[in-house]
Amino acid sequence: MSIQSNLNTVKASLPENVTLVAVSKTKPVSDLIQAYEAGQRIFGENKIQEMTEKWEQMPKDIQWHMIGHVQSNKVKFMAPFVSLIHGVDSLKLLQEINKQALKNNRTIDCLLQIYIAEEESKFGLDENELNELLTSVEFKELKNIRILGLMGMATFTEDQNQIKKEFTHLKSIFDSLKNIDGYGKDALQCVSTISMGMSGDYQLAIECGSTMVRIGSSIFGGR
Ligand SMILES: *Cc1c(COP(=O)(O)O)cnc(C)c1O
Repeated sequence: MSIQSNLNTVKASLPENVTLVAVSKTKPVSDLIQAYEAGQRIFGENKIQEMTEKWEQMPKDIQWHMIGHVQSNKVKFMAPFVSLIHGVDSLKLLQEINKQALKNNRTIDCLLQIYIAEEESKFGLDENELNELLTSVEFKELKNIRILGLMGMATFTEDQNQIKKEFTHLKSIFDSLKNIDGYGKDALQCVSTISMGMSGDYQLAIECGSTMVRIGSSIFGGR
């Protein structure tokens, strides 16, 4: 199957309110161009250097999403162009993103990554850490970042009930955001995104309330 037909099949399976991030990590620019020519404008990468190289080579009307774990010392390389950073999991990282956004005279949109899986290897905040972060004085001082919502990754398992439980957990944390004291109404206006669901579990993620799916192998083939 071609990238174009894969893309069309995936798109046809998504409700209108769900945004597709085409995850192009490890794939050559020629593959991305095929998706671009089929109309795709949002691409997800998990390494800053690779994303920057692709950004340099590709048309400039693409929105680049950083979906991987971000090291603070590399934020500066993507700060001029990144459209959304999915995996933000600390105040320290937010402060660095804010600093680099300011240097580039822009506001950078972020999702806070929540730890929902039963795997040691996955990153993210727990519910208490999230509340602490959002109500901290330091957070309120960050004027060049905007929190659009939450991101999570389910456990890599065949157990659909387990995955469903984890996605439902993320949705409930998302829904509780509006109850956090001190987290300003202004900031809340932007919170509308739940990034959850990959090739293997995006249908389930959408049933559980996902508004943004990150799909790689179903579009570009295995890695
Ligand atoms: C690679 C990756 C994806 C896409 O995974 P597929 O199974 O290829 O769809 C989604 N999210 C994150 C964070 C990833 O690293």
